[in-house]
Amino acid sequence: MVEFSFSARLAFGESRCYFFRMTGSPPTGAGTLNLLDLTPASARAVLVDWVAERELPSYRAGQMHRRLWQAPVESWEQATELPTALRTELGARFPLPRLIPDTVQQSSDGTRKYLWRLEDGEAIESVLIPSGSRRTLCISSQAGCALRCSFCATGRMGFRRNLTPFEIAGQIREVVLADPEEKPSNIVFMGMGEPLLNWPAVDAALSILNHPEGFGIGARHITVSTVGILPGMAEFAKRPEQFRLAISLHAPTSEQRLSMMPIEKKYDLASVLKAAEAFRKRITFEYVMIEGFNDSDADASQLAKLARRAGALVNILPLHPGGAPELTPTPLSRIGTFSERLRNQGVEAVVRRSRGLDINAACGQLRVEVEKKRRERKNVSGERNGVSGEGKAPGDVSTHTSSPALRLRSGQAPRGIV
Ligand code: SF4
Repeated sequence: MVEFSFSARLAFGESRCYFFRMTGSPPTGAGTLNLLDLTPASARAVLVDWVAERELPSYRAGQMHRRLWQAPVESWEQATELPTALRTELGARFPLPRLIPDTVQQSSDGTRKYLWRLEDGEAIESVLIPSGSRRTLCISSQAGCALRCSFCATGRMGFRRNLTPFEIAGQIREVVLADPEEKPSNIVFMGMGEPLLNWPAVDAALSILNHPEGFGIGARHITVSTVGILPGMAEFAKRPEQFRLAISLHAPTSEQRLSMMPIEKKYDLASVLKAAEAFRKRITFEYVMIEGFNDSDADASQLAKLARRAGALVNILPLHPGGAPELTPTPLSRIGTFSERLRNQGVEAVVRRSRGLDINAACGQLRVEVEKKRRERKNVSGERNGVSGEGKAPGDVSTHTSSPALRLRSGQAPRGIV
């Protein structure tokens, strides 16, 4: 059984932040297969064969399959509709790995940010953003990112590795396991990483999210956001479902874009917009507003021209102050004028509220913050003991032992402890 012991708590204004320490982990190894890494169709095929080999009734395959994503369980032990011996056998052959909730921050505006610890010690972020009946989960597709956009904390940490389909779709699975009522209605690939640089895993994860035997989230409620990776865009455009494409535009000219998004050198604005024509559904331009950089009247007119030509909706995003301390967010009044100018030029523009301002909600910010604090704590403890605290794994949170223990059920995300 996996348990989490409460180990430390930090306060961020009205928000609260908790650290959890893993005290056990699911078995993985030779002779095992992670069904959660497969598409629903492939997982079903594996289970059908497995059941047939054991001469079990064929309906057992459906019962097992349902427990992967539709009615997920933390471990096979919880699938009580299956005989005990079968559950034991399933656990040995098809262990159900988990993402470990390392840190969770709850904002006063309802936004919740998760830092998940992966099996190899890497950490990734997801953000759950409730708004009326919608619950949008912003998920990560890579640990870190190689693209180094100047306004992004993830870009500054550099690339660590691609996520597997399980690690991508697992971000939704963990939220559902913690509380099925909180199942996300919308998914956006706008967390850590560039999804189209990890296309094979994102491709499989899209099937898990959308398939009726997966999470069954409608394709039109799933958005993949890209800076414009042309080979990935071509692959994504081949998918027959109505997934949404968002382009992280952020500047109306190639020159401006190049000054903050190095990828512009490889895939320029004109080529990206050309590639977007392959998408049948309406696309979105994401536009982070940075004072004195991309928020002039001339920028608005140039952006309007691009958006009209592409038939794009423009999402205007106030720069999250935590993402890039050296950049200044455009004042709200200026954002209002800018968006009005777009509308006056025939473009649909929506100003998104900055959410989670009292927590580390900017992409990559929480991981940077948590690891910085850990380094500081380890250095302090190393100095006290006369040794350096450097060189320990980032996932080692065992130094957070001063708070009273609070036990959680196996895999229970820290909901209710907010
Ligand atoms: S904005 Fe996206 S693509 Fe750019 S560095 Fe951050 S995670 Fe990477």
